[in-house]
This record gives sequence, C-alpha cells and structure tokens, in this order.
Amino acid sequence: MTLLVKAGLVFTGSREIENGWVLARDGMILEVGSGPPPPADEVCDEPNCIAMPGLVNAHDHMYQWATRGYVPDGTLFEWLRALYPVWARIDADTVRVAARAAMARLLLSGCTLSTDHHYVFPRGRLGIFEALVETSRELGLRFHPCRGSMSLGESQGGLPPDSVVEKEDDILSDTEALIARHHDPKPGSMCRVVVAPCSPFSVTPQLMRDSAALARRHKVRLHTHLAETLDEERFCVEKFGRRPYELMEDLGWAGDDVWYAHGIHLSDAEIDRIAEAHTGVAHCPSSNMRLGAGACRVEDLVRTGARVGLGVDGAASNEDANLAMEAHQALLLARVRGSSPGALDARAAWRLATQGGADCLGRPDCGSLEPGKCADIACFRVDDLAHAGIADLVAGLALAPPAQAQTVIVNGRAVVREGRLLTGDEDQIARALAATSRRLAG
Ligand SMILES: [Zn+2]
Repeated sequence: MTLLVKAGLVFTGSREIENGWVLARDGMILEVGSGPPPPADEVCDEPNCIAMPGLVNAHDHMYQWATRGYVPDGTLFEWLRALYPVWARIDADTVRVAARAAMARLLLSGCTLSTDHHYVFPRGRLGIFEALVETSRELGLRFHPCRGSMSLGESQGGLPPDSVVEKEDDILSDTEALIARHHDPKPGSMCRVVVAPCSPFSVTPQLMRDSAALARRHKVRLHTHLAETLDEERFCVEKFGRRPYELMEDLGWAGDDVWYAHGIHLSDAEIDRIAEAHTGVAHCPSSNMRLGAGACRVEDLVRTGARVGLGVDGAASNEDANLAMEAHQALLLARVRGSSPGALDARAAWRLATQGGADCLGRPDCGSLEPGKCADIACFRVDDLAHAGIADLVAGLALAPPAQAQTVIVNGRAVVREGRLLTGDEDQIARALAATSRRLAG
C-alpha cells in the first residue's frame, strides 16, 4: 500500500521543496522529491499546505485533561497540593476519557508521536496504563507511555499525600510487567514503554536508583521532572544536600537514555554536563509561563549540543495540547529571556518540535521527512485569512499563532483530513470530557 502526499511546500526538517511530494509504503517513507510524482494507491493533494515532519510531544500528563482550570494563579507546589486529592479519584475510565481529548487535540495540532507521563495510580484502580495504550491505538497516535510513580508521601517528608503514593516493590514489579506486555523496540514501533518516577520531591532516592537499573536491564528509556522551580531546588538542598541535577547524577540518572522535563534552573556547569552526557530536556514553555516556574535556557542547551525537545505538559497547567503553539511560545520566550531576536530562530524552534523531541524519545526513525523514516507527516493550511501571503512560510508559521493541521498522517495512515479527526468523534469526546471533569470535581 503506497501513499503520496503532495504539498505547496515540503519542509523536510533541513530542506524546503516547492511543490514537493513524499512517497510512503507500509508506514515508511520511500522517497521525497519534486516535479512529476510517482503513482500511488492513495494520494493526498494539499497545494495550499506546508507539509512538515509530524510534531513530537516530549512531555505530557494526559489524565490532566479532566482537571483543567484549577488553581489558576498558584505556584507549582500550591497547584500540586490542591490537585493531588482530585487526582486521587481518577480511575481507568476517567483516564480513557481524558486521554481521548488529549490525543485528539495533539493529532489535530499536527503531533504524530507523543509520550505520556502517568504517575497517579490510586490503590485498587486497575487498567489505567492499559487505557492509555488502548486509546493511542484507537486514535492512531504513535505513543511512548511512561510508567510513572510516586512513593514519597507527606509522612516521609514528600509533597504528595500518603493516599496517592504506592509501595516501591509494587511500582517496580508493575513496571516490569508493563514493559513485557507493551514495549516494542523495533524500528517503526507504535508503542514504547518508559520508566518514569515523578520527581525528586515525590519519590525516594532508592526508587530513582532501582528504576534506572530496571530500565537499563530492559533497554528502555528513563524520564522524570527536573529543575522546574526554585521550590524544588530548595527541597533538594534541604532534604538531600544536593541541587536537583547533582542528585540525578548521584542516582545514575544522566546519559543518552534519559530525558528530563523542564530543566529550567540549571547552572552553566550543569548545562555543560547535561550536554556531555547526551541527556535530553523537554522544554514546556506554556506550562512554565502558566505556573511562573521560570524560563528554560533553551539557547544555551542547544548551543552546548544537548538534546532538546518540546512538550505541552499536562493540560492542568496549559489548558490545551497544541504542539505548534509550543514551538511559537518557545521562540518568543527564548527571545524575551535572551533580550535578543537571535536567541532562537524559527527553523530552530521547528527543529525542537520535531527532531529534538524524537532525539529525546530515542527515535532516530522519526522527526524528519527522509527515505527510511516513519511516514509521520503534518500538513498545515496556509491559504486562510490568518496565514495567506506570509513571505517566509517556515519562519512565518512559527511567528504566527498555529495554523490548522489540514491533513495528518501517522505511520502512513491519514488520521486527520480537512482539519477533522477521522479516528474519533470530536463532539462526543468533548461531551464525555465535560461530564467526567464535573464528576471528578465532586
Ligand atoms: Zn509535567
């Protein structure tokens, strides 16, 4: 089965081809070119679109779609303390409804590969991780679910209440079982499992160490929150006598199989060490601005050669999941932080949203439009009132608010056409989300 995507402009990630095309077979790209295209079983002709590599979401908490709009003006710790008791009420059904909304919004914004960091597993509520994996199959999203965890409750000096933490032995054995059941290491994989204790203030150092050993035994990746706020830095210095990144290094959490979310409060030396270790950072500009967490030193991380991707983060601290918006926000925030328009250019912002995220997730087969890569393609409409006539389309699309993803292809299959989701009913997903959010609010 061959698929041909034609577009007014094809941006491969490194080349810009006017009236270009991408030919795919069985989910992989065969050829990228211009001029008369080869014949194909299925043709998507988008003369009014720019076709790009599908966007990659390197940090998220999809269950949070059911708890948007809480603590609108709080810090991270205030926001977390208010939300933990609400999250303690989630179950597999809640997570399924929320994940449908999260994944629908991601696909509709041109995202084709996403992780999800799920760390709330209330006692006795089974099937939460399975609900996430099944929803990704239902909607057609390439998916890297993280088996997250919390084990350091309030009574042990952690931030979360004891009611939402799990026993460490249970976490490790469940993680191992989920890897055995769902992890597919092959190129072109649609599902890879990640090991992801939540943060230095919600798990013990021992669980961090054991999780790293488990992940390396099974050759899967590691993910956690790091250096998000100054409150976290104070917590680590007081409790462990280490800055957050120093603690991670001590616990074996540096290396090319690790990526952190946020990485905001890092020293010059820490940035150099992250780059040397080839560790990744998922920058989440909307969430960081919403929570007033600070601004990631994206340009310094990029300059030193660190792997940097973009994440929408959970919708409880973003209120949306639009990866193209994160590229736009990353570009503007870097320029504010650096007081210079040279801090981050538009092509670099798109690189973070595509290849950078694929690097964090360990996917050399994703992130650009080249022969041999996965056929994950997003076509953004540029003939509407918001975008018509923009001079430099690649730059203009990052400077302007996001364009509509007209066609989105994942694994060689169209999941969005004419700006509508083909794999789910958007209105039905929204109605179920509203009902679930009301029920969870109590
Ligand atoms: Zn997060």
